[in-house]
Amino acid sequence: MKSKKLKIGWFSFTCCEDSTMVWIELMNENFFKWKDMIDIRHARVLKKRNKLSGIDVAFVEGAITTEQDAKKLRTIRKNSKKLVMIGSCAINGMPAAQRNTFNDELKKEIEFLIIRFKQTPNVRSVKDIVPVDDEVQGCPMDESAFLAVLNKYIKEFGVSSA
Ligand code: SF4
Repeated sequence: MKSKKLKIGWFSFTCCEDSTMVWIELMNENFFKWKDMIDIRHARVLKKRNKLSGIDVAFVEGAITTEQDAKKLRTIRKNSKKLVMIGSCAINGMPAAQRNTFNDELKKEIEFLIIRFKQTPNVRSVKDIVPVDDEVQGCPMDESAFLAVLNKYIKEFGVSSA
């Protein structure tokens, strides 16, 4: 009988992508354990052909700075049974959202960039845009907290290892 795998997606919005690096290191360490348990359907950092459908758990890193990204995040939400915010930028916007705290003078100085890159007036967190199921705190994410969330969903979705 074919074993059931947890279908996951890994998505990065505006951020430094350090949690992605932590995740890749964890994959290096856990590859043989996870290869029969996890089906990576969408992770642009790992592969060119990605499927944004039928995802069990979407892991989302970074803050949302454009309407285009907000739209993409809504599409991810629509195609994922669970959505987990990864790291501080996704959870509360910071530090990616520093410009939200700028005074009027600084805001004026960066206005041309906001216009050029079609940015929204304020940087938003993931939970400002879509409902979420979980979060992994840290900047970058805390490894053991990530493993706890992953193991929770491996169990919840009835994944078997072989
Ligand atoms: S939470 Fe920290 S590590 Fe993660 S993307 Fe933001 S700045 Fe980078």
